[in-house]
Amino acid sequence: MSESIKCLIVGSGPAGYTAAIYAARANLAPVVYEGIEPGGQLTTTTEIENFPGYPEGISGTAMMEDLKKQAERFGTQVRFGVVTKLDLSARPFAVEIDGGTTALRAETVIIATGASAKYLGLPSEQKFRGMGVSACATCDGFFYRKKDVAVIGGGDTACEEATYLASLCRQVYLVVRKNYLRASKAMQERVFTTPNIEVIFEHNMREVLGDENGVTGMLLESTAGAERRVDVDGIFLAIGHHPNTELVAGQLELDEQGYIITHQGQTNVAGVFAAGDVQDPRYRQAITAAGSGCMAALECERFLAEHTL
Ligand code: NDP
Repeated sequence: MSESIKCLIVGSGPAGYTAAIYAARANLAPVVYEGIEPGGQLTTTTEIENFPGYPEGISGTAMMEDLKKQAERFGTQVRFGVVTKLDLSARPFAVEIDGGTTALRAETVIIATGASAKYLGLPSEQKFRGMGVSACATCDGFFYRKKDVAVIGGGDTACEEATYLASLCRQVYLVVRKNYLRASKAMQERVFTTPNIEVIFEHNMREVLGDENGVTGMLLESTAGAERRVDVDGIFLAIGHHPNTELVAGQLELDEQGYIITHQGQTNVAGVFAAGDVQDPRYRQAITAAGSGCMAALECERFLAEHTL
């Protein structure tokens, strides 16, 4: 007989852990599977300055460790592992972990699988992934100390990564496809006042250049069609994210961008809830993810009170 649990939480970012804190305090004995990136995207952020309650800011890793401890304090079981299959056709839902090494049945599920970095889809980008092409400056920036690097994108992530890299690297090129930055004014200001960041507007990266040792440069094309070659040792993609919905594809209703559609945390399947970036194409903030985790857990608690198996 496989293990039976009341509440399964898939994902361990701010949404997953906040859901766990609320579910545990409601005696739902939640089980969190951490997934492939324990702690979620925030663990790849340097400093979080806009989460209320931290006047001096806090590192993403420290915040996620605290959230995990807080969830465990109330009895959440946090397990290392990846949920590889979910059958949402009937309650209790059948769940497979790590490709079938473990199986369990869950009365309710909260999906908090977050979102992942997007890539441009160039074959050369694929070829040099991990050899100079990265989507996480805070993870890999250290390898490019005193070297030249490029960041692709014009949003807050791109500006944050460019500023961070500028503190380590000799020169940072920020490649932006439009003639303006989409990032907040505060972030733009930081970029424009950092002397070793050069913003290259109205250019797209067409090819990653490199040899057997890794990236050596990039080929850019301007919107007018002119080519420009820039020598760099590392290229950081910061062009947004896509929601991690592979687990529930074909089972839950998604919007046109692929995000799970929720109404007050509930999906279109009774007993299945979603929280955080996987259902939020608009705000995608740690605080909104945490808030939606709370909502999902409260709805889950209400649902279980009304629908005992
Ligand atoms: P965004 O979607 O805001 O920005 C993506 C950027 O990448 C845009 O400049 C976009 O260009 C560009 N882009 C997208 N596709 C391509 C492509 N194929 N080729 C070239 N450029 C491309 O994503 P972010 O990850 O920056 O931010 C996501 C959310 O998280 C936002 O709400 C942001 O405010 C928030 N955030 C907040 C932070 C903070 O407050 N500290 C830090 C980081 C993120 P275009 O403008 O032309 O569409």
